[in-house]
Amino acid sequence: MTALVLGHKNPDTDSIISALSATNLYKGRGIDVKAVAQGTPAPETAFVLKRFDLEAPEVVTSVAGQEVYLVDYSDLAQAPDDFKEAKLLGIIDHHKLGDVTSDTPVECWLQPVGCSNTIIKMVHDYYGVAIPKNIAGAMLCAILSDTVLFKSPTCTELDKKAAQELAEIAGVEDMIALGMEMFKAKSNLDGATPRELIFRDFKDFDMSGKKVGIGQLELTSLDLVSDDLMASFKSELQAIKEEGRNSAILILTDVMQEGSLLLLASDNGEIITKALNTTLSDHMWLPGVMSRKKQVVPQLEAAFK
Ligand code: MG
Ligand code: MG
Ligand code: MG
Repeated sequence: MTALVLGHKNPDTDSIISALSATNLYKGRGIDVKAVAQGTPAPETAFVLKRFDLEAPEVVTSVAGQEVYLVDYSDLAQAPDDFKEAKLLGIIDHHKLGDVTSDTPVECWLQPVGCSNTIIKMVHDYYGVAIPKNIAGAMLCAILSDTVLFKSPTCTELDKKAAQELAEIAGVEDMIALGMEMFKAKSNLDGATPRELIFRDFKDFDMSGKKVGIGQLELTSLDLVSDDLMASFKSELQAIKEEGRNSAILILTDVMQEGSLLLLASDNGEIITKALNTTLSDHMWLPGVMSRKKQVVPQLEAAFK
């Protein structure tokens, strides 16, 4: 049976490129796999695929009866709804340990680094599997994206080392220039509704029985968000909260200013603002906050306990 290599819902660049790069890794070891994704590429990922001449993975929403390798997550909430009817074979991830489980031993590569592709690079080296030039370029982009050009507090020396080595394989001379081009593509807000923008990179978390949804948009400048769009984000978050969530949050990250604007609709707004060291107001700026995984989710999980 061909096993699936599958990233999380609302796929980001790391999730989609991990499916492709981990497929290269498993195939290089003689394992029969196919890269798939739980959605089509967002603009940033589309830029990376086009730049390195790669095809987007086929979209799947059901995995019942299939064998599956997970990349870039291990949470049931981010897996297909029928994931419990699939057989888990492995996980490569850099997030907090999630709640998937298995009936048989599982190959796990989990590291607290800035990007799943950093781990995938290390495992290629471990098994002596070669990385094609175009996949190396896309993996480099995933690292630049997840670490926000190495500026995120999630970034480690291992991420920088992997990026350097991938840049050499891909023949990329100026990593930061490539990363800026990618973030410009990501900052394109045209042609999408406010709701689509919120869900472009959105994750639901179970926080002590409360469903908290957190979206993040990383932009080269917050000036790209007009007053009208800001107002639409706020009303849309209210609607998203009312779809069965305790809270709906949007983190608007300014990559150059190195901080984020917090927007929220919540039954427990003050718990959230207190956890993030701010107070409820029309303009909640969180200086230095760039990482949902490290600077938002753990703080909220602790506050909701
Ligand atoms: Mg991801
Ligand atoms: Mg990632
Ligand atoms: Mg991200």
